[in-house]
Amino acid sequence: MPDLDLHVWSIPLRTRFRGLTSRDGVLLHGGAGWAEFSPFWDYDDQESRAWWRAACEAADLGWPAAVRSSIPVNVTVPAVGPEQARAIVEASRGCRTAKVKVAEPGQDLADEQARLEAVRDALGPSGRIRIDANAAWDVDTAVARLRVLDRAAGGLEYAEQPVPGVDDLAALRRRTHVPIAADESIRRAADPLAVAARHAADVVVLKVQPLGGVRACLELAERIGLPVVVSSALESSVGLAAGLALAAALPELPYACGLATAQLLTVDVVDDPLLPVDGAIAVRRPEPVLPLPAAGPELTARWRERVARVRG
Ligand SMILES: [Mg+2]
Repeated sequence: MPDLDLHVWSIPLRTRFRGLTSRDGVLLHGGAGWAEFSPFWDYDDQESRAWWRAACEAADLGWPAAVRSSIPVNVTVPAVGPEQARAIVEASRGCRTAKVKVAEPGQDLADEQARLEAVRDALGPSGRIRIDANAAWDVDTAVARLRVLDRAAGGLEYAEQPVPGVDDLAALRRRTHVPIAADESIRRAADPLAVAARHAADVVVLKVQPLGGVRACLELAERIGLPVVVSSALESSVGLAAGLALAAALPELPYACGLATAQLLTVDVVDDPLLPVDGAIAVRRPEPVLPLPAAGPELTARWRERVARVRG
């Protein structure tokens, strides 16, 4: 195989997110268009192969036909204080659904209650609020927390991955009336179908890169048979376009998607980022503007080595 033309980028985040202060990745171009490869650094080469398959699909094949042209999206509220949470919702370009991060190390239940109350106040009674605990709780803690946070939020749409593992999700789901969404139990699991088989979730979160591409996600969605929320992996707008393509191709889309994450980046690789208007993002595929937001020579070398290992 000839050397790939890899374009490495690195962009600071507006707020610390998932323990990160910046995001980086690689863009490449193929016959079907631009593609992004950006596994987080805690994904090893084996796990990153799915991310690479998604990039190859975008570059070489393109994506299946869309059945809708606009995707409702949620605003994401990181583990910030109530004033900042309110400001984020108010600046969200009309999003009617908020995903609020909880279970942040160093914060307590009172911080989470205050954040959820501020988000409810900013969204109004008709808005929808979901939380994401990134598998931080055990089942007993989750039962207790969900009771309190459901009240603070004025009703939760669902709780995303409150506990690790399919068995824990299934056990929790029998003990709470809050609907449960599976995220890590799909994208980092040996068997993503176990969630459905064990009745462990009401909703599944699908992310294009970790699951190996748009087609792989469509096939998985069909086999799981539960409502899907398409979310990003905090990509640039080139990577987000693949998430939009999945959301646009799903037969049903009952929930707002987690694709409004371009606003978490301080800049983007395109001139016209995939940002929501009136709470929805139009389905399109923006082209990057070269040169990309600078990555130093050290980071560029790390990505080149990573791509070489994952392709090989
Ligand atoms: Mg999640």
